[in-house]
Amino acid sequence: MAIRVQCGSCGATMNVKDELAGKRGKCPKCGAVIDVPAAGGSPVEAGPPPAPGAAPAAASMPAGTSDKSQSVAFILAALLGGLGIDRFYLGYTGLGIAKLLTAGGCGIWALVDYLMVGMGLMKDAQGNSLLKS
Ligand SMILES: [Zn+2]
Repeated sequence: MAIRVQCGSCGATMNVKDELAGKRGKCPKCGAVIDVPAAGGSPVEAGPPPAPGAAPAAASMPAGTSDKSQSVAFILAALLGGLGIDRFYLGYTGLGIAKLLTAGGCGIWALVDYLMVGMGLMKDAQGNSLLKS
């Protein structure tokens, strides 16, 4: 039985004798030194292909979803939109200050934000969709 290894230098694959397991061999093509995996260990290319559709283990929340609530943002936009409180809540500190100083863009900006949040089009400062709860 031979061990299949890939040259890290030129990318050529070759079969190496078992006696070289765990030692270093030489690529017959480009002469580069290659590490031969130990016998019984996992050969370089023998990793099982990732199962299709396999999801990463750690995902308590669907990707792209904010921890900010749409309904909270909506209430803030409705009651305190003129002070930019909804923007502060969503993490847009700079925009919140701007909105506060302009009194919600003379009400127009506050109204637009109010509608955006209400229609679920508003995202938080990280670009994640708001939590619909
Ligand atoms: Zn090579």
